[in-house]
Amino acid sequence: MIKTKQLYEGKAKKVWETEDPNLLIVDYKDDATAGNGAKKGTIHDKGIINNRMSNFMMKMLEKEGVPTHYVEEISDRETVVKRVTIVPLEVIVRNIAAGSLSKRLGLPEGTPMKRPVLEYCYKDDALGDPMVNEYHILAMEWCTKEELDTIAKYAFAVNDFMVKYLKTLNLDLVDFKIEFGRLSDGTIVLADEISPDTCRLWDCDTKEKLDKDRFRRDMGGEEDAYKEVMRRLMGEVPED
Ligand code: UDP
Repeated sequence: MIKTKQLYEGKAKKVWETEDPNLLIVDYKDDATAGNGAKKGTIHDKGIINNRMSNFMMKMLEKEGVPTHYVEEISDRETVVKRVTIVPLEVIVRNIAAGSLSKRLGLPEGTPMKRPVLEYCYKDDALGDPMVNEYHILAMEWCTKEELDTIAKYAFAVNDFMVKYLKTLNLDLVDFKIEFGRLSDGTIVLADEISPDTCRLWDCDTKEKLDKDRFRRDMGGEEDAYKEVMRRLMGEVPED
């Protein structure tokens, strides 16, 4: 598969067109941003770790009955994916209070939720990705009711699988953000990425943060944290 034209460069990935109009190549960068672009930096080898973790998870999720955009990993940082039109929603599932939920509800970080919590944010950088509910989504026609029901069903299936799987690696899945897209025939598939950029992952015993919060909160140690997640998932880390 050959890259033809660059379609888009985002905060953490470049996306290329290929000779096949239905396939794109995603190229993961080491660039990191936080606070809607206010903080910028790089995390060495993040692109490799995110590419490999995301593909690893999506392959397993396909087997669990969640269709995804994944086609083929072609290098450490590059993956062929199905072309989709993204539904402009950040779909967040939470198992333990942290981040914006802790602030909004005054819940100490680490408070377990009695059941998983599903949230939606409208993807719009200029508006700061505001939280919205099902009524906003349907009134604005960002997707149909049928699509939203599918998205919610898949989001909980992703959560159920990942909570159990990550537990075997001694990781608590605190929360995560996923995105969905439509194929040309309208099928809803899981798109974007699943990585320590988009998941909060805590060591089950020490509660050490092994995700992007180390970068967002200037804690340091983000490179080692990403490597540790990859080591637990794949038993190896990128070579220097
Ligand atoms: N998240 C993300 N991209 C965003 C915002 C949030 O991937 O633009 C993820 C984040 O890593 C966390 C979950 O979504 O796993 C919930 O994030 P939260 O709403 O608490 O926002 P934050 O505190 O990160 O601003």
